[in-house]
Amino acid sequence: MLGSTVKTIGGIESAFYWGDKWNCQVVQFYLTLSRKWEVDEISKEKVKIFKDAWKGSKVKEIVAHIPYLVNLVSENKDTREKSLKRMLLEIERAKILGVRYLVLHPGSTGNQNKSKAIKVLRDSFKKIKPSGVEILIETMAGQGSSLGSSFEEIKEILLALNNDKVFGVCFDSAHVFESGYDIRGEGYEKTFREFKKFIPLKKIKAFHLNDSKTNFKSKRDRHEHIGKGQIGLDFFGKILNDERFKNIPKILETPEIVEEGENNLRILRNLIK
Ligand SMILES: [Zn+2]
Repeated sequence: MLGSTVKTIGGIESAFYWGDKWNCQVVQFYLTLSRKWEVDEISKEKVKIFKDAWKGSKVKEIVAHIPYLVNLVSENKDTREKSLKRMLLEIERAKILGVRYLVLHPGSTGNQNKSKAIKVLRDSFKKIKPSGVEILIETMAGQGSSLGSSFEEIKEILLALNNDKVFGVCFDSAHVFESGYDIRGEGYEKTFREFKKFIPLKKIKAFHLNDSKTNFKSKRDRHEHIGKGQIGLDFFGKILNDERFKNIPKILETPEIVEEGENNLRILRNLIK
């Protein structure tokens, strides 16, 4: 299942315009304005417009990205409280719209140690009590004090959250590479073997397919167009033809998505055997 991040300027229903234009089976977008803490209400009419547009579209699955503002493990109490409130709202909105997957960056710990931050995350979700959606913890590049930049840490997060029905993993190719797993060449199988040591492969519910502008182990999160970065086409060919992941949403998140998204999708499709 292949698709792309899409821009939804003018309304979230425009996701389906881009999805159909680019022949996507899956699209990813923000349910709310991603750079603002304030969120507008959604009217029944708008929900209907969205659902009608989805019905009339070939898009099968939607993955919503939680805005980067949200940091449930922030050291700042105000940010933590706002993040909790927003997470609740995003889950509610997803349910109203019929969106199944929500991708979440597990957060930046600041000066706290990671196990303390994981406890804070666990306590947040105890308050949120998520249900009816699947929240996918994204693998991170290891920039700054971000949580989730190793498979072991993702495992610890999943263990702490302790709800197999709700929590899964979103595997981002650029982040995994930047954090220090060489997914190129023979590293492809090695990386998934390493993943399996900590987490069953079936916990991967979505892939972000991005090449990396920065070097292997750079710990710097910079996405690049497919085939133009440090990862190269070989990895993307392998993942797109891997039977184990055939039905898992694979989503492009490359730069200049409006201008270059379709071209990147074309490059990916050409790799499918
Ligand atoms: Zn990503």
